[in-house]
Amino acid sequence: MNITQATTRRAAQRAPMQALTLVERLVKRPLFGCQMCGHCILQDTAFICPMSCPKGLRDGPCGGTDVYGMCETDAAMPCVWLRIYERAERMGRMDRLMKLQDDLDWRGEGSSSWLKLIKRAVGRDGRLSETERAAGS
Ligand code: SF4
Repeated sequence: MNITQATTRRAAQRAPMQALTLVERLVKRPLFGCQMCGHCILQDTAFICPMSCPKGLRDGPCGGTDVYGMCETDAAMPCVWLRIYERAERMGRMDRLMKLQDDLDWRGEGSSSWLKLIKRAVGRDGRLSETERAAGS
């Protein structure tokens, strides 16, 4: 196999993953402000993306809000975690909110979390291969 064939084959292998990543980005960005962290926890955060926290906190608030619940890095912005907490309470999803989250693996940034869900559903562990990770970036 020459280099052109190898490159073409590799591109063909990556195309479905890149398409899925693009669709996920196009759907979730306008709906949730998704930043494609690669490990979606929307279902545990009352469908508010925790990555919109300026500090990128995924396991709860930093405690730096003012008495009105506004973010200490941007006084015009309500604390993302306060919004998450209030919505989770309204939706009866506090049990999910209290779940401890895994650390975010930043190597997966830009990759599709839908792909991981699909893999989990079909019995793979949800970790991305180098090819899949590269396809997301
Ligand atoms: S948790 Fe990650 S994948 Fe889910 S919406 Fe937020 S940035 Fe996107």
